[in-house]
Amino acid sequence: MKKALQLPSFLPRIITLLYHRVDTSETDPWGICVSIEKFEEQIQFLKNNFNIISSGDLIKQVTNHNITGGSICLTFDDGYADNYTNAKPILEKYNCPATFFISTAFIGSTIPFWWEELEIILLHSIKLPGKLLLEIGGEEHSYTFDESRLTDKQLLQHANWKWYEYPPTDRCKIFLKIWGKLKVLLIDAIETNIEVLRKWASSINMGNSRLPMNDHQVSELSKNPKFTIAMHTHTHPDLKEKEITLQTEEMLSCKKILNTKYSVDSNCLAYPYGQYDSNTIKAVNNMGIEACFTTSPSDIYAYSDRRILGRYQVFNESRTSLKNRLNLLKNF
Ligand SMILES: [Zn+2]
Repeated sequence: MKKALQLPSFLPRIITLLYHRVDTSETDPWGICVSIEKFEEQIQFLKNNFNIISSGDLIKQVTNHNITGGSICLTFDDGYADNYTNAKPILEKYNCPATFFISTAFIGSTIPFWWEELEIILLHSIKLPGKLLLEIGGEEHSYTFDESRLTDKQLLQHANWKWYEYPPTDRCKIFLKIWGKLKVLLIDAIETNIEVLRKWASSINMGNSRLPMNDHQVSELSKNPKFTIAMHTHTHPDLKEKEITLQTEEMLSCKKILNTKYSVDSNCLAYPYGQYDSNTIKAVNNMGIEACFTTSPSDIYAYSDRRILGRYQVFNESRTSLKNRLNLLKNF
């Protein structure tokens, strides 16, 4: 994995951690699932050794150019239901502030996020038809599948595979290709393609995990003053190279829904997929958004740019692994 360029360690810094799901999963190519047990181990370790601060405190400190070193900020992206069912009780048990970046279009959806559905169809289906035709962005793409059943060995390869490793099966290769092509589209076009995939694969059991939070769950989270609900755009587009009007609309819709439905006045945004461009920064400035987070692994200092704050993704790892990987020394 890419290692961030570190400034001298004597400068006070804040480390922001990025979580997505707190649950187990049969496959996890993006490394976004942390089991409940590992999550509790991590939170207990962090709480006992560091100062856990809210994103509001972080923004204040960066705005005032006055950082309290040794601070950690916890963030969760997308708004998965397991944040409510699995993460919330542990965060409450250890009295930890946390920020939940939510893509508002998916609240209450009874089908998984599109990237989860793609994963379920391509990496879990035991048998798939031999040929898949997709029309993506006006171009026809054809993919060929091995029609025989997935073997136990292949299933195990899928279970262990992470995106940064060489794809061990053709299905993994095709999964990455299709994901990359869909990711840059707008949600309607993505959903049209997912619908084609769903019909093509037929009788896939989507289960009821991997779902977004519902209305009640977001509302309950928003009631705890330790928790911050913040923006992750409305439909989770890859903002890069999109028109500024579209980018602004995505931020505005999200802000408005959080405000009208949950009385949340958010001025903080996490870019979907960590992607942004100069138009994104213009839109953020025009809207007066106070702080934005990327997914690039870097520490936060007194003079960090509040519009591109770095975060470190947390994996399903032990406290020792987390400590060593992020170099979490006593007085970092
Ligand atoms: Zn996201």
